[in-house]
Amino acid sequence: MQKLNIDSDITYLQGVGPKKAETLRNELNIATIKDLLYYFPYKHIDRSQFHKISEIDTEMPYIQLRGRILSFNLQGQKYKERLVAQFADETGSIELLWFKGIKWIQQNLKVNKEYIIFGKPGKFANRINIIHPEIEEPEQAEKQLTVGLQPVYSVPEKLKKQYVTTKVLSKLIIAALQSLSGNIPESLPDYLIQQLKFMPLNQAIKQMHFPDNTSMLKNAIARLKFEELFYIQIHLLKQKLIRQEKFSGFVFKKVGDKFNNFYHNNLPFELTGAQKKVIKEIRKDLGSGKQMNRLLQGDVGSGKTLVALMVMLIAIDNDYQCSLMAPTEILAKQHYKSISKLLEGLGVGVQLLTGSTKTKERKIIHKGLIDNEINILIGTHALIEDTVKFYNLGLVIIDEQHRFGVAQRAKLWKKNISPPHVLVMTATPIPRTLAMTLYGDLDVSIIDELPPGRKPVKTVHMFDSKRLRLFSFLKEQIKAGRQVYIVYPLIKESETLDYKDLEDGYESITRAFPPPEYTVAVVHGQMKADEKEKAMQLFVKGQAQIMVSTTVIEVGVDVPNATVMVIESAEKFGLSQLHQLRGRVGRGAEQSWCILMSSYKLSNEARKRIQTMVQSTDGFEIAEVDLKLRGPGDLEGTQQSGIAFNLKLTNLAKDIKILEFARNKAIEILKSDPKLKAPDNKVIAEQLKQKSMQTIQWGLIS
Ligand code: ADP
Ligand code: MG
Repeated sequence: MQKLNIDSDITYLQGVGPKKAETLRNELNIATIKDLLYYFPYKHIDRSQFHKISEIDTEMPYIQLRGRILSFNLQGQKYKERLVAQFADETGSIELLWFKGIKWIQQNLKVNKEYIIFGKPGKFANRINIIHPEIEEPEQAEKQLTVGLQPVYSVPEKLKKQYVTTKVLSKLIIAALQSLSGNIPESLPDYLIQQLKFMPLNQAIKQMHFPDNTSMLKNAIARLKFEELFYIQIHLLKQKLIRQEKFSGFVFKKVGDKFNNFYHNNLPFELTGAQKKVIKEIRKDLGSGKQMNRLLQGDVGSGKTLVALMVMLIAIDNDYQCSLMAPTEILAKQHYKSISKLLEGLGVGVQLLTGSTKTKERKIIHKGLIDNEINILIGTHALIEDTVKFYNLGLVIIDEQHRFGVAQRAKLWKKNISPPHVLVMTATPIPRTLAMTLYGDLDVSIIDELPPGRKPVKTVHMFDSKRLRLFSFLKEQIKAGRQVYIVYPLIKESETLDYKDLEDGYESITRAFPPPEYTVAVVHGQMKADEKEKAMQLFVKGQAQIMVSTTVIEVGVDVPNATVMVIESAEKFGLSQLHQLRGRVGRGAEQSWCILMSSYKLSNEARKRIQTMVQSTDGFEIAEVDLKLRGPGDLEGTQQSGIAFNLKLTNLAKDIKILEFARNKAIEILKSDPKLKAPDNKVIAEQLKQKSMQTIQWGLIS
């Protein structure tokens, strides 16, 4: 056989023609031998065990039998034929069935010869059978590498149509392994392999596909998982080092009048211990001479806005401008209002810039920024646009970061000669593993305390049939002077989905809560910005007792007098969304409620989500459950994160220990050899180079 290397094209493998190669490339991203070898099976089945026919029942998974075919019998009419074989060992007999490829079977299989067959037992007309079993001659099975644990690959339909089955794939992999004959370049340094008692890459790859036994398989997986996470961490941490070296940060030396004035005269309440702690952490960054890139995590209602404001005042005291960017217009406006109010009388210039800012105003704002008359610019995406130029932008705060993409972050960086400090705030707590992976290049501050006097929101699950009870409860609350949110998942009724629709809901709510006694405001995504704003104001000012809306209010809206959050068709929402919505209440001193309405029909997952909400108010705990239920790929933020989430082996919901271990190893290595120049670390440097080239967007924001 021809000698190949790991980067050779797969067409060099026997049996892979141009057409197959193309499908492999398109369907599985397999172009080289290496890609093929890293296409790991999703499970193995144990072929070291043989069953006796007398033991078989239909509950069994794939099993293996050894026996002889006693007879063939062709049944049914033409085009609907089936081939039935009686297959027996010394304990009994079963039927083997074929609906396709009948001719081939008849020509190639012999009666009374011994075969090993493999398949999932089923039942028809009270007879146990195996449909389309895999068949091997005993000598053939022993010759192959495939005696014990056998790999099962996930194979897309298109490949199956070209007869690329699990078996064909494993044959290709065997061929690849044989032609490389152990020549797979090691991807971890020797000393690490020794230290961590890992198997060499060569062996690990082979064991991943064709393990000698389950413990070898486990060892192989452990090594490759470590490696996968280790290189992400090395990459992220290295980015951070490079950034720190490349960009000196603006130094905010002093805490001046604006900050002190605000602190002593305008601050409406005592800061929580956690707020003080994170402000201290941030201040340290701002004075360090290094550019800050910090993630501020804090549960809904923990008071991140206030932290943001105080940090901005430090920037302003040092003659720098700030911008605060929010994901929605409603939220930007809300920030603008509350911040303007908090800053009253301090002489700080605050402006709002969103998509619906009129051209005329826009021009005034542009000028105000250049003239340094605007100290704080609050807005949506609109403030990233190239036309927005600052006199001296020193600090950028991004609220609800997970909604912004990498490119947008990068644009903000370019708004001053050297990049401004960046504080990213997120209200959707992120499980630690995800944070380490998504934001592994950022420093992290956590507000782990809510302002005092908050009563935890009581959450209950209610079936739709109890609606009358719900309405009378809402009436009680409204009578006591409180306000109520009612949130719907969809705006337009859909024929196929049986979800409570906002328009229907609005109608039935106004029927149950008729004017003039009640005023019901409504907000949804398809309204014009000024209509939305009008409706919001009705509620914010307390003129409407009920706010009916879609999830547009999910983020950031702050009406402390609202004490009830009713979520219709709660089964339709994800956990982080439910938690965010619940965070809209419980902001005042009164007891608040979150009521999750649902039909009786609930999937297991939906039930688990609702249960989790009822049992826990801890955002971090909820985020962990969310990660376990959905997997990292579906979590908000992962798609835009910039790290292509192509983890092949690691499950971020489960592999926390390995991740921490890999991160610590990466830190240790970079500490002693930040540039990875040591001969021992050459392998790491090379791997890193290769990997960064493969995943284009990997390099987060630098
Ligand atoms: P989030 O972290 O969700 O953005 P906000 O900044 O909107 O939270 O704050 C939630 C509410 O708590 C606001 O009404 C805010 O005024 C109030 N708040 C913030 N800090 C404190 C504090 N230290 N003491 C009392 N109330 C506070
Ligand atoms: Mg907020």
